[in-house]
Amino acid sequence: KKVLLQVENLKQYFPVKTESLFQPKTYVKAVDDISFHLFEGETLSIVGESGCGKSTTGRAILRLDEPTSGKVYFSDENILELNKSQMRKLRGDLQVIFQDPFASLNPRQTIKQILNEAMAIQQVVPKAKRMDRMLELLGYVGLPVEALDRYPHEFSGGQRQRIGIARALAVNPKLIICDEAVSALDVSIQAQILNLLKKLQKQFQLTFLFISHDLSVVRHISDRVMVMYLGKIVEIAEKKALFDSPLHPYTNALLSAIPVPNPELKRERILLKGDVPSPLNPPTGCRFHTRCPFAAEKCKLEEPPLREIENKHFVSCHFVEKLYLTISH
Ligand code: SF4
Ligand code: MG
Repeated sequence: KKVLLQVENLKQYFPVKTESLFQPKTYVKAVDDISFHLFEGETLSIVGESGCGKSTTGRAILRLDEPTSGKVYFSDENILELNKSQMRKLRGDLQVIFQDPFASLNPRQTIKQILNEAMAIQQVVPKAKRMDRMLELLGYVGLPVEALDRYPHEFSGGQRQRIGIARALAVNPKLIICDEAVSALDVSIQAQILNLLKKLQKQFQLTFLFISHDLSVVRHISDRVMVMYLGKIVEIAEKKALFDSPLHPYTNALLSAIPVPNPELKRERILLKGDVPSPLNPPTGCRFHTRCPFAAEKCKLEEPPLREIENKHFVSCHFVEKLYLTISH
């Protein structure tokens, strides 16, 4: 399998306004030194509670917010070193779909104008061929031709997301970052949009980075899953391994809170104490130690590295070998 995107030591620290000049500068370490890759044609999901850094990771890759440090290789080029015009060219390859397409669709533009503008900016389709291309795009996302002359507010939430997808597709992207792309939709509409994304992925060899807090959505769409907690990756595995035999205590806690389709895999509910600590002042050592039912002295002192525990199954926990026997099997 070919690697399409390689993220190395990505950090995103946001400075916090301090009261006086004499106070030391403080930072929210929203993403703190994470490395991972995406294979061509796969869907990698990032899951975690709000504030874990999953959206920040997506935005940093796209340079919507300039990351503090790290490298992001896309087709062997470090995106973070590209200048503005190189970056503009690359925008066609990297597209994004947000939770609320309404917010990103200009209410005063018809769908025709919206799609036309996307193609014009990236110069992917010559003017004379754009009409044909628009009709093609509507067909791909399952919207009628009449949609072209209508405005975003005339569509339902699911239809608007189809428009968002058509706009992303218009420029022939390779990678689409979906940030909570179906989170605002009803469950039945969610399934339709997820199935549409899967169909389009096959048809156009798309790669998805799928950001979501919703584990049932993630279970539906992913090939691999990455779990984040307070700016760190705690586990990455193929979907089946992650859902059937999660290894990190945090992943176990997340999963134990959702209904299990296979009752044989029913696991004990792990209840976490307290809330997610502030990323302004994250716990020392393992960031999860303040809530982990298995935390020991070492966890407060040493940060656990992300290690490959089983084939392609990476976990950051000092005691995973021991816990593996206790909790998941
Ligand atoms: Fe829990 Fe310690 Fe493992 Fe962190 S390193 S998940 S605190 S057992
Ligand atoms: Mg978010």
